[in-house]
Amino acid sequence: MTSPTLHTADVVVLGGGPGGYVASIRAAQLGLSVTCVEYDKTLGGTCVNVGCIPSKALLQSSEHYEWLRLHAAEHGIKVDGASIDLPTMMARKTDVVAQNTKGVEFLFKKNKITWAKGYGTLQPGNVVEVKAADGTTSHWQGKSVIIATGSVPVQLPFLKFDEKRVLSNVGALSIPEVPKHLVVVGGGVIGLELGSVWRRLGAKVTVVEFLPTILTGNDDDLVKEADKIFRKQGLEIHTGTKVTGAEVHSDGVRVHVEKDGVTAHLDADYVLVSVGRKSAIGGIDAVALGLAMGARGEILVDDQQRTNLPGVYAIGDVCGGKLLAHKAEEEGVVAAEVIAGKPVHMHHRTIPGIVYTWPELATVGLTEQDVKASGRAYRVGKFPFSANGKARTMGETQGFVKFVVDRDTDEILGCHMIGPNVADLLSEVVLAMEYRGSAEDIGITVHSHPTLSETVKEAALSALGRAIHM
Ligand code: FAD
Repeated sequence: MTSPTLHTADVVVLGGGPGGYVASIRAAQLGLSVTCVEYDKTLGGTCVNVGCIPSKALLQSSEHYEWLRLHAAEHGIKVDGASIDLPTMMARKTDVVAQNTKGVEFLFKKNKITWAKGYGTLQPGNVVEVKAADGTTSHWQGKSVIIATGSVPVQLPFLKFDEKRVLSNVGALSIPEVPKHLVVVGGGVIGLELGSVWRRLGAKVTVVEFLPTILTGNDDDLVKEADKIFRKQGLEIHTGTKVTGAEVHSDGVRVHVEKDGVTAHLDADYVLVSVGRKSAIGGIDAVALGLAMGARGEILVDDQQRTNLPGVYAIGDVCGGKLLAHKAEEEGVVAAEVIAGKPVHMHHRTIPGIVYTWPELATVGLTEQDVKASGRAYRVGKFPFSANGKARTMGETQGFVKFVVDRDTDEILGCHMIGPNVADLLSEVVLAMEYRGSAEDIGITVHSHPTLSETVKEAALSALGRAIHM
């Protein structure tokens, strides 16, 4: 009997999401031979296929519709009979996803990266066994292996995903009709973004959150403002409320809830369960391999993305922490560069977090409550969009920019924004924090007028006690 051929590469990457495909490209740029193992029909992972990209496509479409209905008239634009063509909206979303998956495939070809199509299982000796859809297997040995298998949604035992009535992100991005009543279990980023999509398209949306607030972990001021705005927009939000059970029928779901010992039920035609995600380690037998794992089932790594196994690295959602595409990408770059012998390391201090509702939320660094709890002396600077000329021209005056800075050195410790286009406004603060910049650095920088970015400058000046327009 002949033994199966063992293919070799400098780097074998397990998973073709934002972590894995970026690590593959960077490693190839550095002159290494790369094979990326991915079982999905398309590259791009959760982010491109069923996460960031399709959700933002639907957020954009539904926001246009809401703007036409609620705000066009303020600008003197009359629109009669605006209505939704859901199949077209969904087809556009699918097309946007395809542009991105094909883009990643193009980049693989350009960088001469081999895509080993199939389900990968990590074996001892840095070998990945790849089982293709047709049942054939191949074996790939890397001088280094990067695990980038991502994450999967957490299920509730009494609300198992069927993607018909009980939906994960996958089903909630493709509901075939506008629900009459969508119940969202979990008031985090995914629940609020997808809940907003369907509310804007006409669904009644009820968000049930077990914890005392939505968007737990964010700056308190930001959360209060977001909660107020979302309720005003029509989201029904029940915080401090536990989902205790459910009855799933062919045409809907009855969800049992409990708050302060009082029980009730909600009848929905669809339920989105967005209570968190966990590491995807289906192809990795951590115990057999001796791979060190954390308490939450995440792969443990050092600041160069090394696991405890020689030559094995891990990046992205599978390592836990902030489950964000840009964090996965940066960790991918670090792993590839470390493998190529560069003296780099990953640091998580300045990883931004965005919520793409409207208004958007954008945040980086420490919250005010974090800094207060640490006992460090600090100052806060805040500036509202209602005092910004560009925001007034846009008719988008909700929200504010808030800085938390060290009282003595003025170093920016955190920045928290809610308002129009703040996802893009945050970047200058992230850059300033990368350089350990101060509020004064931003406050004395010339910002174009009239722009929303002047709100960032004014909030920084406010931390120094000298905002001009307030
Ligand atoms: P993934 O993207 O999950 O990729 C892992 C890949 O590995 C997958 O393609 C999977 O098929 C493959 N794989 C797994 N196991 C194997 C195996 N054994 N063999 C072969 N292949 C395997 N983040 C943001 O930064 N911004 C956003 O706006 C945003 N929006 C989101 C919206 C939604 C609805 C969701 C669900 C997530 C969103 N995220 C967002 C999070 C983002 O999608 C993830 O953080 C990101 O995809 C993680 O990248 P990754 O490479 O670690 O894992």
